[in-house]
Amino acid sequence: MIRKLTENIIVVGEGGSSNTTIISGRNCLIIVDTSLFPEKALKIRKFSQEIFGKPISLVINTHYHPDHTFGNAAFEDVNILSSKLTKEFMEQMDINYIEKIWGKEGAKKYHVSLPNSTFEEKLSLSECGVKMKLCNLGGHTPDSTIIFLEKEGILIAGDLIFNNYHLEITDDSNIEDWKNALNILRDLSPFFVVPGHGEVGGLDLIKSTKDYLMRIEAFVEGKISKEELISDKNFSEREFPELFVYSVENIFKILARF
Ligand SMILES: [Zn+2]
Repeated sequence: MIRKLTENIIVVGEGGSSNTTIISGRNCLIIVDTSLFPEKALKIRKFSQEIFGKPISLVINTHYHPDHTFGNAAFEDVNILSSKLTKEFMEQMDINYIEKIWGKEGAKKYHVSLPNSTFEEKLSLSECGVKMKLCNLGGHTPDSTIIFLEKEGILIAGDLIFNNYHLEITDDSNIEDWKNALNILRDLSPFFVVPGHGEVGGLDLIKSTKDYLMRIEAFVEGKISKEELISDKNFSEREFPELFVYSVENIFKILARF
């Protein structure tokens, strides 16, 4: 998918893989999320140069997950910004973790490029003349960060939102924080919502993601049956059901901690 949201903002994604947003400002570009593989990130970098013909001045990572950060290796000469937590999580990645993602060969060929500037919880930024607000809301992961371009009405939600794919609930997800984050996103009233995975949509994506979370929570707590869950189109029509199994296992792990 290559989706042009405005003359200056393009979202690039492929099937269920993570989305990258390219924002063109006055004299330079901003890239949000860098995909899983440096080769792919390099292609996105070249594509952004061909389309806009401006240098990249900033890369932003929405959270530490490799499919949003491992392409940073293609932007080593660029300032990379994330929340403080994202950088801390990335610093903890050891070689076993990296080999699991890239394989032994990939881990020899590339290294994980860490963000070189960070913010605590919130940051208002004007980069290349583009005003944006960054906020670490947590939920999907403790470091899950959103980027809001108020003037353009564009919300880049990272993995707090999945469109038409099952949500990825990991063992460090916090469902309460996630639901609260979605309320905050809804109140921003964005025109475009860029999900971490899947097609760009509107406000409806925030509602369907929250409904999904509440249904899956009710299912795990035994409040609704498997049949009721499956009969819900917001559940059954999502792709990548393997993620549902993974997510349910993780919800049990999260609950076991309380
Ligand atoms: Zn993620």
